[in-house]
Amino acid sequence: MSRVGTPPRRALIVGAGIGGLAAGVTLASTGWTVEVVEIKAVNATVGVGLNHPANALRALRALGVYDEVLAHGYQYRGIRRYDSEGRLTAEFTPVDPPDVPFQVSMTRADLHRILTEAAERAGATVRLGTTWESIEDDGVGVDVTFTDGSTARYDLVVGADGIRSPLRNLMFGNDHDPVPTGYACWRVAVDRCPDMVLSEYWNGSLVKASVLHLNEKTMYLLVVEEGDWDAVPDPATMILTLKDKLVGFGGLVGRARDAITADSEIHWAPLQEVFLPAPWHKGNIVLIGDAAHAVAPHLAQGAAMAMEDAIVLADELLGQGVQDALASFMQRRYRRVKYVQDQAHAILQNEMESDIARKAAFAAGLGDRQTEITRLLADAP
Ligand SMILES: Cc1cc2nc3c(=O)[nH]c(=O)nc-3n(C[C@H](O)[C@H](O)[C@H](O)COP(=O)(O)OP(=O)(O)OC[C@H]3O[C@@H](n4cnc5c(N)ncnc54)[C@H](O)[C@@H]3O)c2cc1C
Repeated sequence: MSRVGTPPRRALIVGAGIGGLAAGVTLASTGWTVEVVEIKAVNATVGVGLNHPANALRALRALGVYDEVLAHGYQYRGIRRYDSEGRLTAEFTPVDPPDVPFQVSMTRADLHRILTEAAERAGATVRLGTTWESIEDDGVGVDVTFTDGSTARYDLVVGADGIRSPLRNLMFGNDHDPVPTGYACWRVAVDRCPDMVLSEYWNGSLVKASVLHLNEKTMYLLVVEEGDWDAVPDPATMILTLKDKLVGFGGLVGRARDAITADSEIHWAPLQEVFLPAPWHKGNIVLIGDAAHAVAPHLAQGAAMAMEDAIVLADELLGQGVQDALASFMQRRYRRVKYVQDQAHAILQNEMESDIARKAAFAAGLGDRQTEITRLLADAP
């Protein structure tokens, strides 16, 4: 069994994504010696943009980067929902909670830079182009051999290696691989239309398209349709394919479609979820973020859940040994994460609802539903 160690204890974090960098901040700033290894050789993120709902903003405040996020993001002012004929079906104007905005969106690149700098400021070191080759936990500590041939021993290993987590496979086998939702998502950043300030959602019969503002210059088009890995689009014709899918859409979605250029970088990926039963830890190794609980993006809670994991983990490690702390971490995280996963999944399912009346009723209540979720998640994570 592990016991309360004499600081500084050593932690290895696998993965320099949102959860891994957040854990770099929280562990390094609570006295741990922290190394982060990232398999990608270049310090960059994949994807376009992110929404941060109120609880994510509170997590970012706890990480010490709230002001930077606000300075680089776009404060959400509401959304208009249209049917495929361009008829307005619902409109939602958010009411900000007392302490933070209802939601702020930003580019993934800005968030990644801000979190990397925060982790390094806190004292974490990030090694790029490196991962583990073997991991042996003897119950007291964890011996790791890296792909560059180096070895080290740690009190704690944090797996923040994302939705396809190799560490999850090592710890729990392949039974918890990502589960396809049956839907895939196109994403692209385009120049923002400064005369339009609200977000929009258009409910086409085959595809559902949203546009969000990421900052003063950039907006973010997301298009969801049925699909899985067997429907991977041909990269050579992606731009035309995406534009074709949006023929007939007006408003901000139509303008985003028309703003796609030959240089636009289009991302396409199936939407998947991960449901790893508790516990997400074994011995002195714990999984956080998407590795443990990838959530459908419809509630924009994936990053929030990963960052909250990092905050709670460091908090629980403050006064106790690693294995006791991991048990307490699990107690605090499981119900909240499961609630978020269930809510996001319900919204995803409604997205493709074929019964028009049921779909309209759900969409009309979505703003209130999000307000209620925001209220419930206002408690400390
Ligand atoms: C279409 C879409 C839209 C989304 N929109 C939002 C949104 O608006 N708001 C929101 O909060 N969330 C959103 N999400 C979810 C969010 O992106 C994830 O929940 C979040 O990135 C999870 O963070 P993470 O650190 O767990 O994983 P990641 O951010 O994926 O980071 C994992 C890191 O681990 C690295 N890695 C992988 N394997 C290894 C290895 N063997 N060794 C070392 N490193 C490794 C990867 O290269 C990566 O850098 C969206 C997701 C999708 C698919």
